[in-house]
Amino acid sequence: MLKIERNEYQALRQHGESTYPHECCGVLLGQMQDDGARVVSSIARAGNTRTDSAHNRYNIDPKELIRIQREGRERGEDIIGFYHSHPDHPAQWSQTDLAEAHWFGCSYVITSVDRGKAVLTNAFELRGSDESDKKLVDENIEVLEPDHFHTGA
Ligand SMILES: [Zn+2]
Repeated sequence: MLKIERNEYQALRQHGESTYPHECCGVLLGQMQDDGARVVSSIARAGNTRTDSAHNRYNIDPKELIRIQREGRERGEDIIGFYHSHPDHPAQWSQTDLAEAHWFGCSYVITSVDRGKAVLTNAFELRGSDESDKKLVDENIEVLEPDHFHTGA
């Protein structure tokens, strides 16, 4: 289960629209709860270093990832996942996505962007113990409304 506030959810979808027809990518920061749910408290946009074929692969510069991790820790946030977009392709992980996923227990969020418009956003959890048995498993996304939208008790 991935919990994310409406604002962050929209921001990661809009990122994919703004980089269309290229892929966008970024990092999800927040907390891992005791029941295994991940709660996103902020997202960090990352530059896509894959200039060779930015439409079907993505890669975050390791130096940028370290900087994002450090800045998150200063706010008490951990890296709990990653996101990227699939321009004109379904919001389903590819073999390349699985091969390039290395953070076990983290969420991998994919947004399909159809002709410049964000359509579906799906999340997958990377499970397994090492590279040989790893797999991406469907995960629910719960979009949280900001507090000021709540009415009643
Ligand atoms: Zn992908």
